[in-house]
Amino acid sequence: MEIKIEMPNIGDGDAIIVHLKRGLEDLVVLIDGGNAKDADKVIQKLDPILTKTGKSGPDLVICTHYDSDHIGGLKKIAQHYQNKIGTVWVHKPNIEDLQKTISTSNDLLQHRKSEEVNALKQLFLLEENYSSFQNVLLESYNDMAEFVDFLINTSIPTIEPFTGCQYPGWEEVIMVLGPSESFYKTLLPNLKNSKSQIGEQLLYESFVNKPRGMKTLMMMGFPCQTLDKTPKAQVTTVNQSSIIISIVVNRNKFLFTGDAAINSFKEIPGYPDTIKDIFWLKVAHHGSRNNSSSELFNIMRPKYAFVSGDRHIDQEVIDCLKEKSVNVKTTRDDNDLSFKYP
Ligand SMILES: [Zn+2]
Repeated sequence: MEIKIEMPNIGDGDAIIVHLKRGLEDLVVLIDGGNAKDADKVIQKLDPILTKTGKSGPDLVICTHYDSDHIGGLKKIAQHYQNKIGTVWVHKPNIEDLQKTISTSNDLLQHRKSEEVNALKQLFLLEENYSSFQNVLLESYNDMAEFVDFLINTSIPTIEPFTGCQYPGWEEVIMVLGPSESFYKTLLPNLKNSKSQIGEQLLYESFVNKPRGMKTLMMMGFPCQTLDKTPKAQVTTVNQSSIIISIVVNRNKFLFTGDAAINSFKEIPGYPDTIKDIFWLKVAHHGSRNNSSSELFNIMRPKYAFVSGDRHIDQEVIDCLKEKSVNVKTTRDDNDLSFKYP
């Protein structure tokens, strides 16, 4: 079997094209579609692969979670290929709630007045930061609602994948490791609640914006220690719910992680064995320190690690991987990335 991975440089976002070849069979998988502005670039990368394999659309489209930098481009991409898409894997956590949120559209803005949010705002954030992340959140809701609306109105088969889900005909090749349905259900109350998501996002953003000044904590020459000792921000529920996929090619494991959090990995049934000895790793959450630890890297022991990120990248993540002799590439430094094996 052969695998080719294309990871176009779209800044802090994910759009990953996986082309598998087994004898005369081809399988084309798209994992996330970047932001809406990235859709054309992704289509440009996909089209030649589809032409070469005689397909009119990807066999499988996976939406790891519904942040705009993953789902934003998917609606446009799905509209482009329409019913030529084989299957879509996506969690639809709160469609009714989403539709309500969008239809009343000022719902989120109303929450802004809530005491809880105001207190958080005063505690952590400047006004401009607050409105910029609020836009991000609203955008994510809109993107999710539009994508799901589109799916409902087409005949593309849609599956909500949890641990153990496999792609028919490619069982033992493409497998969903996480989230398990039970872990996902523990996240669901927050996924359903736009107000708690605002609170989480506030805490996260305030933390992410602050530690830039904490770079002084960097222990010279010990990036893994720095990675472990620098306090980590709570990862949002949406990110924690990311679909984690393993693709096994000639006994080598390729791990696709979305924006999964450290606890998302630990909640995978069979952890740590299930994520042991990875050949190729998509580093979680665009290389943010909040989603990685040397403990995880010691279990995964990847040979290759790709990071699709820019602003989100924390240097200690890259340096810790390098300390462990991992071959690391980032879209920030190396532009469009691709990987072929064997
Ligand atoms: Zn992301």
